[in-house]
Amino acid sequence: MSGGAVRRVAEIASYHAHIYFEPGGEERDRALALRETIGERFAVRLGTVWDRPVGPHSRAMYQVAFEPALFGTLVPFLMLNAGGLSVLIHPNTRNMRRDHLEDRLWLGTPLDLKGEVLAEENEAELAGEVNTAPTAEP
Ligand code: ZN
Repeated sequence: MSGGAVRRVAEIASYHAHIYFEPGGEERDRALALRETIGERFAVRLGTVWDRPVGPHSRAMYQVAFEPALFGTLVPFLMLNAGGLSVLIHPNTRNMRRDHLEDRLWLGTPLDLKGEVLAEENEAELAGEVNTAPTAEP
């Protein structure tokens, strides 16, 4: 790697998956069914279901916050089960804007983000308290 220091994975305090949907229709139903499925299989923090754009997000969505240790199972699970929904997966480091705009990955169709509302210097966000009680294997 040329120019600049190699960044370390330890920078990543947690990850978010943002699962987007069209409000008021079949796509919303599928997105919420997926939310439930995630909750039954993963110890994560499920966020509010927003039926309107919030923050940098240009469409309705909900967030799933998770520990780095879950990346290797939750992300493949979403690959297999997102069913064509747009999903943004980003790390949480000390630069939210870069997390969302550069260091992300997408499943499904990538969407526009309002990067200008995001800080470029911030505390790295932790996954937060788990609010699911999984009973099934992923
Ligand atoms: Zn996020």
